[in-house]
Amino acid sequence: MVLIQILVATFVISLIAFVGVLTFILKEEWLKKALLILVALSSGALLGGAFLHLIPEAVSELGGSLSIFLYLLLGFCLFFILEQFLHWRHQHDETHSVKPFTYLILVSDSLHNFIDGLVIAASFVVSYPVGIATTLAVALHEIPQELDDFGALVYGGFGRKRALAFNYVSAITAIVGGVTGYFAASVMKASIVYLLPFAAGNFIYIAAADLIPEIKHAVNIRRSIIHFCVFLAGIGVMLLVKFIH
Ligand SMILES: [Zn+2]
Ligand SMILES: [Zn+2]
Repeated sequence: MVLIQILVATFVISLIAFVGVLTFILKEEWLKKALLILVALSSGALLGGAFLHLIPEAVSELGGSLSIFLYLLLGFCLFFILEQFLHWRHQHDETHSVKPFTYLILVSDSLHNFIDGLVIAASFVVSYPVGIATTLAVALHEIPQELDDFGALVYGGFGRKRALAFNYVSAITAIVGGVTGYFAASVMKASIVYLLPFAAGNFIYIAAADLIPEIKHAVNIRRSIIHFCVFLAGIGVMLLVKFIH
């Protein structure tokens, strides 16, 4: 049953890689605005996922042990270092990667999606509500992330269809990560819980280092207020998930 939940969740996540088709149908100006709203929503959802679901669940399973927070820092540091070396970015400006680095986008994207799949699996193994919360937080940040990947691949010289196809291939690793996580859980038994604070560290890094910097300087005060309210709504969604179950 848990395996099916993981498969469904990671399959849905992998489909987000096709979000690039939106650039075929929507006006660029409109898309940019919508994207920043999504960035605001997903930063809130990621922080809500980390602080309202992943960390509390780990604390209730493992007590207040220091190791929880060491895994949290590990998750944060790993994403920091991966970003430094593999250069996966979330910026939606004109500084997209140059052509020779296009393949690196695919490598880092595959790795990132694999880790997303892994933490989704761990969350479902630990508890169904945590699984839902993690899937939601991943889905929301994957929409701007995958649009970004697609844009960078096209900029890097891929045709749009080819970019969509390659982006999807690099998203299938989410399913691979999910299956790996499921079988790792049966080997690791209770220690799979440590993947939760690790995931929280990933989420906090993505929200604080990648996403929030994009929205904290809006073009005007009205947009700033909208972004902040949507950010709070992202946290609110995670709070809601907490109380629904
Ligand atoms: Zn992700
Ligand atoms: Zn991608």
